[in-house]
Amino acid sequence: MKVEFLGGVRTVTGSATLLQKDSLLWLVDCGMFQGGRAIEERNRSVPSYRPRDLSFILLTHAHLDHSGLIPKLVKEGFQGKVVCTKATFDLCEIMLKDSGHIQEIEAEWQSRKNKRSGREDTAPLYTAEDAEKSLRYFQTVGYDKILSLPDGLKIRFQDAGHILGSAIIEIWVEEGGQEKKLVFSGDLGGSGQPIIRDPSPVVEADALWLESTYGDRLHKSREETVQELLKIILEAISKQAKVVIPAFAVERTQDLIYTVSQLKRKNLIPSIPVYIDSPLAISATEIFKKNPDCFDEETKDLLSGGNHPLELPEIKYTQTTEESKAINEDPRSGIIISASGMCDSGRIQHHLKHHLWRSESHIVFIGYQAEGTVGRRIVDGAKTIRLFGEEIAVRAHVHTLGGFSAHADQKGLLEWLSHFRNPNLQVFVNHGEEKVSMILSEIIHQKLQFEAAVPQWREKRFLFAPEKRVMPEEKIEAEESAEERFSSLLKDLERDYKRLRRKLKTRRSKRGDDRDAGWLKELDEVNKKLEELEERLR
Ligand SMILES: [Zn+2]
Ligand SMILES: [Zn+2]
Repeated sequence: MKVEFLGGVRTVTGSATLLQKDSLLWLVDCGMFQGGRAIEERNRSVPSYRPRDLSFILLTHAHLDHSGLIPKLVKEGFQGKVVCTKATFDLCEIMLKDSGHIQEIEAEWQSRKNKRSGREDTAPLYTAEDAEKSLRYFQTVGYDKILSLPDGLKIRFQDAGHILGSAIIEIWVEEGGQEKKLVFSGDLGGSGQPIIRDPSPVVEADALWLESTYGDRLHKSREETVQELLKIILEAISKQAKVVIPAFAVERTQDLIYTVSQLKRKNLIPSIPVYIDSPLAISATEIFKKNPDCFDEETKDLLSGGNHPLELPEIKYTQTTEESKAINEDPRSGIIISASGMCDSGRIQHHLKHHLWRSESHIVFIGYQAEGTVGRRIVDGAKTIRLFGEEIAVRAHVHTLGGFSAHADQKGLLEWLSHFRNPNLQVFVNHGEEKVSMILSEIIHQKLQFEAAVPQWREKRFLFAPEKRVMPEEKIEAEESAEERFSSLLKDLERDYKRLRRKLKTRRSKRGDDRDAGWLKELDEVNKKLEELEERLR
């Protein structure tokens, strides 16, 4: 079977993998690229397949970097099924419509700009109406149930512990008379996240797509992180200041509501207003309340004890723009939780404009900040930030709290991976920045001895074929500059060389000598080619 890596490779956004078995064509995830113009251009690039030829899309979870291009595909002729869990469907209903709405506003803004410079209008990627239409193609599936699909394909969704409804997807296919199993980790949560359950362990697979968002670092423990947040809140209260928390509308916001509610119940903080200032986050919180079957035991216990973990009298949900503006007119201390999580759009930008320059204010980042986003620039220490055409000085206290992350850290990823038993497991490390994915793949080699590759954007491979190489005639279309391409080729070469050395070493120590003459001959040829190349580069 064939695979093409369409997104979420060497970057955290745009997750999508195209799979083909005979004439059956399908996608796992269909995410949107986010984080600056260069990468967002990919959202408009023409795919290598016709959307109408796809039989289905298997969707790991509702975040837009996994689901965001579904309405575009439907608009372009996709008529198959989008298979996901019920909570994912509920969340997609609000998130895709919201995304369509944002696309319309952005296209309108761009068109106005174009007009002034005499250029043509920009069409939105898709509209809220397109998003609404795409919902009729969704089909929900429960966790742990095996579902049969055309061509003998079987799938199962297991809990990924990342956000409400998130799933690890297992796929069984018949290949050359044998059953093979593919596993997509989706985004994996860490263990001990509040509200939802921990990721389910998986033990069998022939090929695994593993996320690597935090593959290069360790999170602080949750308890430590909660203590840090408590300290920040108390300090803000002592100065009558505000704590601004950019948070993803789904999961991070509910996690914060849960955490602040716990602090309040334990009387560790006084009664101060907690604003949930994002219409999307408000709707998402309602969806959480509608899906208690996705909750972990602790949350179920709280519920049955009459303490709803997502309800607190201090919480103020602000729907309208007027209510949102009034927040900053209130002189009291308060906690403002607002979206978008990476500060690229939404009401959070207004709060940043109000608070970034105030030395008494606190800005707390709890989620991943992708390259190229406003949030990333603040975290990286920018002295000023441009918002609404104005340069705003950054004088507020800026904090990053890793322990609230919805993603497993390096230890969590390796722990989950260590359950796999197949020594010939092929791992594709994705959903991470290039450097991070490389680091994780190296550690996977060293610690678990699995083959781990970091694919390129639009790379194509044959799976389970005797030679798993990239097909030469279908090499990646060169979107990168020659220089970038050269440096990534060199890196790949170095990695392959190291891996080969290691393999030869273990082979030699096992067998005492190298008897495989074919191998030596091939290696000799590769060596000659490299020498020739070196000669030419001189
Ligand atoms: Zn996610
Ligand atoms: Zn993701």
